[in-house]
Amino acid sequence: MRRLRIALVAHDAKKPELADWAADHQAFLRQHALVATGTTGRMLMERVPSLAIERLKSGPLGGDQQIGARIVEGALDLLVFFWDPLTAQPHEPDVRPLLRIAQVYDIPVACSRATATLIVRGLSGAP
Ligand code: PGA
Repeated sequence: MRRLRIALVAHDAKKPELADWAADHQAFLRQHALVATGTTGRMLMERVPSLAIERLKSGPLGGDQQIGARIVEGALDLLVFFWDPLTAQPHEPDVRPLLRIAQVYDIPVACSRATATLIVRGLSGAP
């Protein structure tokens, strides 16, 4: 499998879920180039120390937009974005553009653990 460029982002209430998912799939994630928004990246590296993750700015400080820019530049292959549907985010205006630009450039987006797992299984050739 070619080395993919994967972005990992989770809103605060979803960070534990992303951490659990990343721990479960660390063997897969280790094979790829990982980038994350600031707090998500720090949390993931604490939880799964074997993962090397490039940390961008925190989401509310522009990290989501940095990931959007990577998509525009053709520098991202997969977005794992566990956004929180139950809590208002101060940077709500950043969320929709990220999902939009991923769709414009036809980048696969996993917004939930179930979808992220399906994508990993598909890429790994697992049933
Ligand atoms: P964070 O940003 O990883 O810095 O918390 C994620 C987000 O809320 O967009």
